[in-house]
Amino acid sequence: MFEMFKDKWILEALKGSSLGTKLSAIKKFIVDKSKIDNLTKCALCPNMCRFACPVSVVHARETTSPSGKSRIALFLKKNYIEKNETNIRPLYYCLACDSCSVSCPYNFSVNELIRPLRENYYKLAIYPQELRELITMLKEFKCIYNLSNKKPDIKNEENINIHEALLYPGCIMMKYYPNNTNVLSKLLEIMDLSVKVFSEMIDCGFLAYELGAHELFLEIASELANKINSYNAKYLITVCPECTFTFRDVYHDFKIKLRPKIYHIAEFINERMEGFALKQNLKVTIHDSSTLAIKLKKPNLLNDILKRIEGLEVILPVRYGLNTFEIVGENSFLYWVDRDLAYEINKERGEELSKFANNIIVASFAAKKSFEDLGYGVKEISEFIWDLINGLGESK
Ligand code: SF4
Ligand code: SF4
Repeated sequence: MFEMFKDKWILEALKGSSLGTKLSAIKKFIVDKSKIDNLTKCALCPNMCRFACPVSVVHARETTSPSGKSRIALFLKKNYIEKNETNIRPLYYCLACDSCSVSCPYNFSVNELIRPLRENYYKLAIYPQELRELITMLKEFKCIYNLSNKKPDIKNEENINIHEALLYPGCIMMKYYPNNTNVLSKLLEIMDLSVKVFSEMIDCGFLAYELGAHELFLEIASELANKINSYNAKYLITVCPECTFTFRDVYHDFKIKLRPKIYHIAEFINERMEGFALKQNLKVTIHDSSTLAIKLKKPNLLNDILKRIEGLEVILPVRYGLNTFEIVGENSFLYWVDRDLAYEINKERGEELSKFANNIIVASFAAKKSFEDLGYGVKEISEFIWDLINGLGESK
């Protein structure tokens, strides 16, 4: 009965139709639909969320549209089409951003609907060949890169046994911005935390999970959780929204226990910035991470931080918050499967943001790297705040 009320939009759409049409539609869409599984419902949908899907907007192909991916998944599941590398490829044209769920009348995430199929095909060793190198790295190094020669830029104080916070830099920061660990530690210290940096390069397992490599994910996540728990820290501070989501939600679903309270750095800054009277005469725009905005339900986090800075003009882009338009970072499998499309999606977003301001603020080092690769002026939120505290920020 409650299900019927959720579908009142159908009644609206049927206004003006004959009684016979109304009754037949109500029976099909409201009564009978409870017998239909979610993948089939999505496959039958006229792509109502297409406009919100970054892959679909830029790629503009039916097979990689949200409903198109569900249709391919359904055909594969029902054995209407052969399970081979070509046919399963559209299942990897997804950013796992959940933007579809925001516009979907059923709140479906296509990524959630199709991930079980990726899991089946991973077990059968059927996946796009471009992912082989990535999977080999994950198996060999428990990380998407070999970072054995990288060390965070900080001297951990071994004589201090109790550290309130453990800073987990994650793979993108350690590969491209290892010096920022120092900045982040200092920022957390002036926010009254004693900090230790996690220096072993095991990634959070996000990509293994999204690929459907669940045994590999469990292996990575269990080892990482044991190491993190051994620090006895009160807080685990992450800098990557995907790490935060994986630690908070995916580890929980897999019953992997992390003892510290998990924060994304932007959440922590938002809680502790009250004591700092920050000023900056500058115009900026923001790129909201879909993982923070949608999966972690923090759609206004960046804006909430920035609007408390005196003199800062924050120009919101057309697509922000829950309606953000995700870009492709190296922690997304689409980056590995189709670099050209990844570049086009990032270009689309960069061009949108540059219409609003030359300075882009992000809450993800993967996003920072993607915008920098396109030549845009971009700062990650912790480095932006650190520069303001130290009077190093630019002015307009
Ligand atoms: S996710 Fe929802 S709106 Fe998007 S195609 Fe599927 S059913 Fe339609
Ligand atoms: S999760 Fe994101 S990329 Fe994937 S279908 Fe939905 S909107 Fe498109």
